Amino acid sequence: MAGKVATAAPKVKIRHTRLFIDNEWVDPVDGDSLETLNPATGEVIGSVAAAGVKDVDRAVKAARRALEQGPWNTMDAADRGRLLLNLADLVEKHAHDLATLESLNCGKTIGDSKGDVQGVANTLRYYGGWADKIEGRTIPVRGNFLSYTLRQPVGVVGQIIPWNFPLLMLAWKWGPALACGNTVVMKPAEQTPLTALVMAELAAEAGFPRGVVNILNGMGETTGAAMVAHPEIDKIAFTGHVDTAKIIQKAAADTLKRTTFELGGKSPNVIFADADLDSAVAGAFHAIYFHGGQCCTAGSRLFVEAKIHDEFVERLAEKAKERKVGDPLDPATEQGPQVSREQLDKILHYVELGEKQGARLITGGERVGSKGFYVAPTIFDKVKDDMAIARDEIFGPVVSVLPFQGVDEVVERANRTQYGLAAAVWTRDIDKAHLFARQVRAGTVWVNCYHVVDATTPFGGFKLSGQGRENGEAALEHYTELKTVTVKLG
Ligand code: ADP
Repeated sequence: MAGKVATAAPKVKIRHTRLFIDNEWVDPVDGDSLETLNPATGEVIGSVAAAGVKDVDRAVKAARRALEQGPWNTMDAADRGRLLLNLADLVEKHAHDLATLESLNCGKTIGDSKGDVQGVANTLRYYGGWADKIEGRTIPVRGNFLSYTLRQPVGVVGQIIPWNFPLLMLAWKWGPALACGNTVVMKPAEQTPLTALVMAELAAEAGFPRGVVNILNGMGETTGAAMVAHPEIDKIAFTGHVDTAKIIQKAAADTLKRTTFELGGKSPNVIFADADLDSAVAGAFHAIYFHGGQCCTAGSRLFVEAKIHDEFVERLAEKAKERKVGDPLDPATEQGPQVSREQLDKILHYVELGEKQGARLITGGERVGSKGFYVAPTIFDKVKDDMAIARDEIFGPVVSVLPFQGVDEVVERANRTQYGLAAAVWTRDIDKAHLFARQVRAGTVWVNCYHVVDATTPFGGFKLSGQGRENGEAALEHYTELKTVTVKLG
């Protein structure tokens, strides 16, 4: 690995640390505070307000007032869309600060953060365009009646997001929710509370009325759980760990809330011998090491056809050793730190397990430096399907190489997982590509590319990787209730 780890000096001011309720910055009534770190150094960079049960209730009441009374409730759909477009413009105007703060708090490289910020603007614009195109249908009902459907907001939506894409996950959730006329109470991840607060400020500036968007930082087991339990939250949209989703689904049963989940993955990335090897090596590298592997779609199970296995692993290892790991705010850096001490320890624990269970460590497998939470890009070869490193989501820069012989074998092994978020195949053979795409049990399949995710394309998981879809038109279904109206004629 080239370069040494430097520490990132804060280059952006932390403007907001309080709760954002009813378009006002407020202190918690019964909450607490939580410290937030710079993962590049492990140092505390600020303390933010954490919402208690009463604060959650205040935010929900504000969101319900906004939902049921004007101006949001009576606003033309086109004007709702306009507000999303205004917000997208403001995001672009403040792109530098947003990206810098995102890198500072989450550790992603400044290049990746800038890409995310553009993704936020794209997503908000995409859903701004949808706001006045969410239509019902007329139905040829029996008898002398007119029946039609209306698509109406689900109501007050609780949105709980993770730390790996703080801004982008916010946009994926705000975009469809607001386009459909819902109001939002959002809890960012406790590790990355800062950029959502800036987005709250921008939402108010964009013209969103009081109570439409509320931001509550806090811990999952307290603030998050209080949101899930609150009887006046109609839906929970969650992105995070599958074990948390199970807790949420059980808790949501008491109030029969709607739930949508975007969870983890252990995505198969399949390289056939007839692939363009240069692109496949680069693609496999990007698939696992993008954002230090802290990506639910990470291509962490790398199936390589036996014929090209040795050359492929060698080329991948060369690239891994060259990767510049370091200060995320340095534009030359290719991989920043993992988000937290907890994640660092978890990744190193899996490295230990990999070695203990007999996989061959080709490169990496260690912490980089003694400050901050850096991990070297890691490759395990000769991995067996039932080893922990091939089964569990590690959420770090650790790839398991699994050699294979033929199409049927690899499809069966690719599907031998509890997850089903994404999959990819690299081949010049159109038959093999489409056969794999049809047979693999995953919500997204990439052919000769990886991590291509866009606001326009539905995203979500089969099996334990989730329920429902985000992005594209598909998300609108999960943010609207369908109402049938029947009128007696004549
Ligand atoms: P990760 O492993 O990525 O940290 P989590 O599922 O723990 O994933 O966290 C994702 C989000 O879920 C965070 O905002 C976290 O605070 C929240 N969360 C964690 N536990 C709960 C819970 N019991 N109820 C509601 N939200 C929770």
